[in-house]
Amino acid sequence: TVEIKNLHKSFGPLDVLKGIDFTVEAGQVVCVIGPSGSGKSTLLRCVNLLERPTSGQVFVDGTELTDPDVDIDAVRRRLGMVFQQFNLFQHLTVLRNVTIAQERVLKRGRAEARKIAGETLEKVGLGEKADCFPAQLSGGQQQRVAIARALAMNPSLMLFDEPTSALDPELVGDVLSVMRELARDGMTMLVVTHEMGFAREVADRVVFMDRGAIVEDGPPEQVIAAPRHARTREFLGRVL
Ligand code: ATP
Ligand code: MG
Repeated sequence: TVEIKNLHKSFGPLDVLKGIDFTVEAGQVVCVIGPSGSGKSTLLRCVNLLERPTSGQVFVDGTELTDPDVDIDAVRRRLGMVFQQFNLFQHLTVLRNVTIAQERVLKRGRAEARKIAGETLEKVGLGEKADCFPAQLSGGQQQRVAIARALAMNPSLMLFDEPTSALDPELVGDVLSVMRELARDGMTMLVVTHEMGFAREVADRVVFMDRGAIVEDGPPEQVIAAPRHARTREFLGRVL
């Protein structure tokens, strides 16, 4: 469960998040949509403390991440993050990309880390690619390695920031299938995306953000199919 309470974030004079409140229940998928610059990435970055919120609180499974005394590393260990750019280590094999943080951060032994890497790579359909280097893979495959790497850390929450928007259109489907499967397995997911088909089909709730505030929050049948607010309608008119 993730609870975000009255979250504010400013960069100097620029108020980027102006009091965000919402909850993602365990096992839920919440998709965040909204125009460029509305604060979606900043919101995710505040949830995993890549940015320090200016005020407000974030709780993950009851632990307040925004408590100044919290162990940030321990918190980050519980959150998987997948970015638009895959950020794989280019000089390491796929297998090593998936084992390295398990060994260094979770202190798993090499054999155990390899076993878990094998399982997560299998899960994303890349069991055969363990010994390849990232450059030998397509963008969609690299993104699936990034997902496997996050999953191998046994996160209690997965954050996705436009995971398919750097991909060629024909590669998007494979990544969305993996995410759909994760959702089906009960992973708690907070997903910033422009993929309205995915949001409509997989999300339990869709949150529409504009100019640092939540305009509309509800099931996809409402927010995407029958939006109540003019700003949501206007945005959807441009992206659908
Ligand atoms: P996009 O859809 O283009 O990814 P977004 O909704 O993710 O947009 P953010 O990246 O969260 O938007 O940015 C929101 C606003 O905050 C923008 O005006 C951006 O310029 C500003 N911003 C983000 N990060 C910083 C920073 N580190 N310093 C100053 N301003 C920032
Ligand atoms: Mg963004």
